[in-house]
Amino acid sequence: MKIIETPREMYDWSRKMIGQGKVIGLVPTMGFFHEGHLSLMRTAKQHSDKVVTSLFVNPIQFGPNEDLDHYPRDLAGDVAKAEAAGVDILFTPNSERMYPGDNLTEVSVHSLTENLCGAHRPGHFAGVTTVVTKLFNIVQPELAVFGEKDFQQLAVIRQMVKDLNIPVRIIGHPIVREQDGLAMSSRNANLLPEHRKAALSLSSGLNLARQLYAQGVRSTAALKQQVQEHVLAQKETRIDYISFVHCDTLQDVTEADAQTVLALAVHIGDKVRLIDNGRLELSN
Ligand code: AMP
Repeated sequence: MKIIETPREMYDWSRKMIGQGKVIGLVPTMGFFHEGHLSLMRTAKQHSDKVVTSLFVNPIQFGPNEDLDHYPRDLAGDVAKAEAAGVDILFTPNSERMYPGDNLTEVSVHSLTENLCGAHRPGHFAGVTTVVTKLFNIVQPELAVFGEKDFQQLAVIRQMVKDLNIPVRIIGHPIVREQDGLAMSSRNANLLPEHRKAALSLSSGLNLARQLYAQGVRSTAALKQQVQEHVLAQKETRIDYISFVHCDTLQDVTEADAQTVLALAVHIGDKVRLIDNGRLELSN
């Protein structure tokens, strides 16, 4: 595996590969790899000749009071894991290389970014869509793999490539979880050991909603009440949102059906904010 640090070198490598008829698959990440990231990389490998993983903690998608400075980092560990997952290029630009100029341009998707994390993290999705557009232009992938863990992000990226005729096929990958159900996240590394049980309340809250739905409960107000009580039973939790939305429009719904996704964002203690999501109706 080769490490590339500059957008210029990355672009030149990609053009050379494309000239040789190779299909490039891209997995954009912020590093501190776990099994979720590695399964995205392996999926990319199945669909392409060359896999590029970008590792860039993108400052413009963090708000002023968010965890940019505390975001976990481990370049040496990430290099070893990406290599073992079959990645060909680890692209690790720094901020100066990604944003060298005045940066007067941003890419933003409307409507889909108004609810959920978009409502709670102003500017976050414009930061994501801007950096993903830059990565697509630099890496020139034919396909890119994103996790359903960031369900809203995946919907926003799919909309962006459609609206802007960006010739990149977007592949979604299911959420990879720890054995106890906790969705894998780099931010789990910042959880205090005594907060682990509180962190589990997101996935167990999702399972609770699924059980109630299976029993016939359809009112999302009633479902929300139960999930909220379940999460708040852990005293270290502070709810950002618990929302029942349509899987495509991401708009709130009052009656749950097969298209309904429960999305949660919960602060655990002072330093960690976790997200999780899933359909209420499980397909057999
Ligand atoms: P991040 O490094 O957290 O920005 O994530 C990079 C990519 O990995 C994104 O497309 C995420 O949705 C995806 N990802 C992160 N955690 C998981 C997970 N537990 N399961 C599946 N995909 C994930």
